[in-house]
Amino acid sequence: MPEGHTIHRLARDHQKWFGGKTVEVTSPQGRFSEDAKRITGKRLSSIDAHGKHLFYQFGKQSFLHIHLGLYGKFRLFKTPMPAPKGEVRVRLVGDTHGFDLNGPNQCELINAEQFLSLRERLGVDPLRKDSDPEVLWQKMQRSKKPLGALLLDQSVIAGVGNIYRAEILYLLRIHPARLAKAVSREEFDQLWSLTKRLLEIGVRYNRIITVTKDDVGKPLTRLSNQERLHIYKKERCPECGKAVAVTDLGARSIYYCENCQTW
Ligand SMILES: [Zn+2]
Repeated sequence: MPEGHTIHRLARDHQKWFGGKTVEVTSPQGRFSEDAKRITGKRLSSIDAHGKHLFYQFGKQSFLHIHLGLYGKFRLFKTPMPAPKGEVRVRLVGDTHGFDLNGPNQCELINAEQFLSLRERLGVDPLRKDSDPEVLWQKMQRSKKPLGALLLDQSVIAGVGNIYRAEILYLLRIHPARLAKAVSREEFDQLWSLTKRLLEIGVRYNRIITVTKDDVGKPLTRLSNQERLHIYKKERCPECGKAVAVTDLGARSIYYCENCQTW
């Protein structure tokens, strides 16, 4: 599933191509046809992201809400658009570009009230300018869950997925099973700034990169898939050389080092 950086990158790119423009919206597959009729020919004022959710705002009252889930995929084209391929739920076309959206987990037209209520249910998103780390700190204090599980909870922190979770905990040397409330304030401040920085790098390079130029001795634009991460799906800990441990936490596999990450 795409993590928050992909969604914010999409919002940024879509804002550039479609923001402020009048767009044609259709549903070649048919499942979004009724809603498409209500927004087609209107001005798409802005595109925004919160965690793994995308919002396309039309006027004051209409928001196209998209959550890609596991299988959702955008394909971008320069106009004129080619014939739709596969089950295209939404085709949105501006003056120079258009996209096809296939297989989203959620794709619906919602009103301003529903938009606000959905956003209230989402946790803080470190990529958003309006995010407040204190809200996350308070939720961690009240939580009974391990930090490794909490980091995947989109109602607590929005946008972090399975790869970022493993990499963040490894870089902070925190054991994934440590309770969230046992994290010190100093560690929390590091957690927040690291998460924000890594997600921002992800948006910029459009992929998850947790190593630095100095770690690998080459520019971040030239990393192989093997080189861009520290611990996720690795066999050996890059720090101590011991075998990387893997266990289920928060319904997904987490990779960590028993030796380097402390309770
Ligand atoms: Zn280690």
